[in-house]
Amino acid sequence: MMLWKISDVKTVIDEAREQHREALFEHEAKDLISQVGLPTTRYRFANDKEGAISAAREIGYPVVLKIVSPQVLHKSDAGGVALDIGDDDELSASYDRVVDAVKERVPGAEIRGVLVEEMAAPSVEVIVGATRDPQFGPTVMFGVGGILTEIVRDVSFRVAPFGHGEAVKMMGEIKSRGVLEGARGLPVVDKAALADIIVKTSSLMLENPGIAEIDLNPVIVYGDAAKIVDARIILGYEEDAVGAVEPDDDLDAVLDPSSVAVIGASASPDKIGHKILRNIVDAGFPGPVYPVNPRGGEILGLKAYPSVLDTPGAVDTVVVVVPSRFVPGVMEECVQKGVKGAVIISSGFKDIGPEGAELEKTVLETAARGGIRVVGPNCQGVSNPVLGFCATWPLVTGVGPVAVISQSGSIALEAPSYLADNHVGYSKSVALGNKSDVDEADLISWLGGDEGTHVIAVYTEGTDEGRKLMKAVRGASASKPVLILKGGKTEAGRKAVLAHTGSMAGSGEVFEAAVSQSGGICVESLEELLDAAKAFSMLPVPKGPRLLVVTSSGGAGILSSDASEKAGLALSALSQKTVDRLNEALPDYCIIRNPLDLTGNAFTEPEMYRDALEVVLESGEADMVLVVFGDPIPDTVEVLGEVVQKAEEKGVPLAVNYLGGADVQKVEVDALQRGGVPVYPTPERAITALGYMNKYRQYMISHGDM
Ligand code: ADP
Ligand code: MG
Repeated sequence: MMLWKISDVKTVIDEAREQHREALFEHEAKDLISQVGLPTTRYRFANDKEGAISAAREIGYPVVLKIVSPQVLHKSDAGGVALDIGDDDELSASYDRVVDAVKERVPGAEIRGVLVEEMAAPSVEVIVGATRDPQFGPTVMFGVGGILTEIVRDVSFRVAPFGHGEAVKMMGEIKSRGVLEGARGLPVVDKAALADIIVKTSSLMLENPGIAEIDLNPVIVYGDAAKIVDARIILGYEEDAVGAVEPDDDLDAVLDPSSVAVIGASASPDKIGHKILRNIVDAGFPGPVYPVNPRGGEILGLKAYPSVLDTPGAVDTVVVVVPSRFVPGVMEECVQKGVKGAVIISSGFKDIGPEGAELEKTVLETAARGGIRVVGPNCQGVSNPVLGFCATWPLVTGVGPVAVISQSGSIALEAPSYLADNHVGYSKSVALGNKSDVDEADLISWLGGDEGTHVIAVYTEGTDEGRKLMKAVRGASASKPVLILKGGKTEAGRKAVLAHTGSMAGSGEVFEAAVSQSGGICVESLEELLDAAKAFSMLPVPKGPRLLVVTSSGGAGILSSDASEKAGLALSALSQKTVDRLNEALPDYCIIRNPLDLTGNAFTEPEMYRDALEVVLESGEADMVLVVFGDPIPDTVEVLGEVVQKAEEKGVPLAVNYLGGADVQKVEVDALQRGGVPVYPTPERAITALGYMNKYRQYMISHGDM
């Protein structure tokens, strides 16, 4: 019999890699994880039947027998596992059975021997796995065991490094989390022991670049311990591709320029080169604006110059709208001129394939030589309504607290229009296009320090530099919410992404885990992005998770209950004292509970809203309030009266859902929002937005910022 001896983790990995092996044997993997203090079942490697019998006696029956062969990675599939072996005779028979089965199912398998293991008592089986994500690097996965985990993808992820607190959160994120809480006679599992395994697995990945993948499947978890019964470690031979970590937020030239030249400015009103010039002028850009056009002359009353080199003063930033083949030459001139920023609207680069990508590379290299930051190419431009710099189309005015970053041009313009219509407004909008230089991370980092920006809303289709994005999100989230919508999460979506930009979309789950653990807030749709941006702009971050709903519609009340649960909010019951006060303040027909139902009578007696809200706000039992006007109630600003201000003073966010109000509704929504109260067309949308505010609160608390 032979016992495996290793001196340390690195040696065993290095030796196996020198032999160009795909994976460690299970006993090597277990040796390795034991070295870092991970708990496993007792085990012995044996290279023949006699060795197996003496190993079993040493460990103590009952035991488990597992095949050890370099060709067999999934042992049960090959018939290579025998469980619950009671004595020597059974062991002897199992040995033959396992070896024969593997020989038959995996022809040519080299059988090195068997692993004899202590038979662990049955309990909850979970999976802890780790891989190297191409965008985010070492990433750990957690799920409950069994095939359902794979079929419904009921797993949670974290990007390493992270601590015990995050590991425990991972357990709470899976749908089958009930299995960990004492379901069907199983114990309430030892979460601390499990968290320890998760965290140590992440450290193993971080510290050992030679490991490509770790699979602890299953880990059996008890009420007071956890044991790893199967460990698979796949070796890696490729360098970690994870790129730059530092966001480069030197973006003053592109976002806040002092002088601008529009290269490709045109006198024909239907050309983009005309529209952009006009928008810059109409937005009231305070510095010099130079149209550049080889024909010279005059455009919109401004003298046009044949080249950027002919312009009389310094040029901080250029907006480029000429066909792509001219852009390399233009960029050379910009370097000569000492330009600092370029917004390249022109398409025909990476977006059209390999030749385009070559052209883009040339442009980028030239720009880098001159220290010019580039937004685009193939983008819909940049807008800074605070300054009056609108290098995009159409012109959207309406200054407000939301900065919009979008890989898509339409969304970069839709968001400001929506925010303007809702009396919110925007502070910056940037369309990234091919994002050859300036990317989401650079912008998030710059906007994190931008005084006029209180909320950052991002639409992205993925990133090649995951760690850089995490760093930027973490930095900005400390002072303002960063809302992120990721497109291309499904297989079909991913194909669409590849078709319209050259960028790579990472796995949706890992992306969301990475963003969330950095304090960012991942939303599910464009609608949610805009709804949440509106809530964060108009309302304070709640101080707790308790939502109170006051409604005139029973149906909307019920939908509110469902939506609250989904959004992770608590529709908590009111205290007896508050119930008594409400009974005093309101007529008998009101249904005093949460949701608080004023019934359809609120249509004729709308002052009930104010009476109810005064009691509720006074009680301190609501951390946020949703007011549902479920009838065509007029003059809602007066109906609410001072309670809006009172809620503000108490730091209680108050949102409104107005529905069933026909023409009255249009007027009321506008009036309420003008006064700073966000209104949503459904209770679900209002509550989802409030739920995201609560998520931000939770992040701030766990990071000691609240
Ligand atoms: P593989 O995943 O390669 O098929 P495993 O080592 O995971 O092989 O064994 C298959 C299954 O047998 C496990 O999922 C687990 O349910 C059970 N099992 C394996 N080892 C033990 C053990 N030591 N104690 C109890 N059950 C075990
Ligand atoms: Mg297994």
